[in-house]
Amino acid sequence: MTINYQSSFQGKPDGKGSLYLVATPIGNLEDMTYRAVRTLQESDIIAAEDTRQTRKLLSHFEITPSELYSYHEHNKAASGPELIRLILEGKNLALVSDAGLPAISDPGADLVQLAISQGIPVVPVPGANAALSALIASGLPTTSFTFAGFLPRERKDIRNVLSGLRQVQGSLLFYESPHRVEKTLVHLQEAFGNRRIVLARELTKRYEEFVRGTLEECSAWLQEHPPLGEYVIVVEGESKAEAELAESAWWRELTVSEHVSHYEQEGLNRKEAMKKAALDRGVPKREIYNTLLAAEE
Ligand code: SAM
Repeated sequence: MTINYQSSFQGKPDGKGSLYLVATPIGNLEDMTYRAVRTLQESDIIAAEDTRQTRKLLSHFEITPSELYSYHEHNKAASGPELIRLILEGKNLALVSDAGLPAISDPGADLVQLAISQGIPVVPVPGANAALSALIASGLPTTSFTFAGFLPRERKDIRNVLSGLRQVQGSLLFYESPHRVEKTLVHLQEAFGNRRIVLARELTKRYEEFVRGTLEECSAWLQEHPPLGEYVIVVEGESKAEAELAESAWWRELTVSEHVSHYEQEGLNRKEAMKKAALDRGVPKREIYNTLLAAEE
């Protein structure tokens, strides 16, 4: 491997421009930074996920872009190389997504890789981000954390991802839309048991809320308060006790349903199988029952 060295502000290599990754607010427009405004103002090109949305933001800050290009999930294969060509010609390009940091659950990562492969400086212009804003106010440990973004759509893929995260000891950060958040809590409970979580909703906006409780408590809360707006779900990592228990457990790779099925296959009826699984996991039988019920819905 050869070193790829970048000195962001000391001299310009070969007359190339730079790629600036510019954070924009996740709700509250006051979270726009001075540097973001200046960078957008001074760039030769702004590439935006949704040009209509970005035009509104630019007009709010009285920024007149020289050129506005579209760069999103569905045109990135064609648009990416074109943008890189323009940077190689000497244009400075600012990339923005609809909200927050570009390249975090947003298009951008591919453009960054292309730029690096062409020796183009990639310069972060940091600012608002939903996951970290949720984490710092969650009350759950912040010393180590894993950002998991959006879960996949298929049940099997969800289970695979969650089973890979089961033994992570730091806090876990998920993005979720309002119409999937309840189902996601069911999957989380099935994979992790009744851990503590925080539902962080509408961050930085007028109706910002934090719901802190166990997975069971927060699911019950959502029954009473139907989900609305954008969510970050922060889940506590594996506890020491869980780790010690799981260390020695034969069932540690199994979901709750797989665990119960295992005992059923050994000849126990459903009730006995649930009781044994509850005993293994050190949780009340009701928790196993609720998890199975929710997973079957
Ligand atoms: N790039 C963005 C960032 O840096 O946070 C994330 C973009 S991703 C496409 C959108 C998801 O981020 C939403 O579905 C939601 O899970 C989360 N999100 C964005 N804004 C949010 C907000 N104001 N409050 C809570 N979650 C938010």
